[in-house]
Amino acid sequence: MQCPKCRHTELKPTKLDDGLPAMGCTHCDGAFVSLLYYRDWIESHELSGTDATQEAAVQAIDDTKTALSCPKCSKLMTKYSVADSVDNRIDLCSSCDEAWIDGGEWTLLKSLQLADKLPSVFTEQWQRKVRTEKMAALKLERLKAIVGEDDAKKALEIKTWLKANAHKAALIQFLGSD
Ligand SMILES: [Zn+2]
Ligand SMILES: [Zn+2]
Repeated sequence: MQCPKCRHTELKPTKLDDGLPAMGCTHCDGAFVSLLYYRDWIESHELSGTDATQEAAVQAIDDTKTALSCPKCSKLMTKYSVADSVDNRIDLCSSCDEAWIDGGEWTLLKSLQLADKLPSVFTEQWQRKVRTEKMAALKLERLKAIVGEDDAKKALEIKTWLKANAHKAALIQFLGSD
């Protein structure tokens, strides 16, 4: 099997984590992992406490932007967004039930406390949630650009308060009136 990213590098048996076998690329540090092994690993392995110290170091892990072909069956893999706070996506071949994790992304997943949550990440529900959160963050950034940090923060507080309020419609009407 060749690395889907580097193309001409042969994948070699490695370990993504203690007790989790994978096929790794020595060139880009990416790894191809069978979700069959992965599920076993989750059940048999207590995840060591998350390493908060790693967080700062993994903010800018390179994510492969282009579509990747599965090293096993050559079909295009599907990209799944990990979280709204990062741009990284994990490639999954649903035919082979194997995932491609870019070099450094495993550490990133751990720092986000998602290393044991991949099956959830690979659901439409998770993807929808990430999209909604990313959209909300984008809207807030746009507002900040117009009204400034402080007013945007105040608007967000009001929005959160309104959302939980049973009289939301009446309040919005009042706020919008002169
Ligand atoms: Zn590679
Ligand atoms: Zn495949």
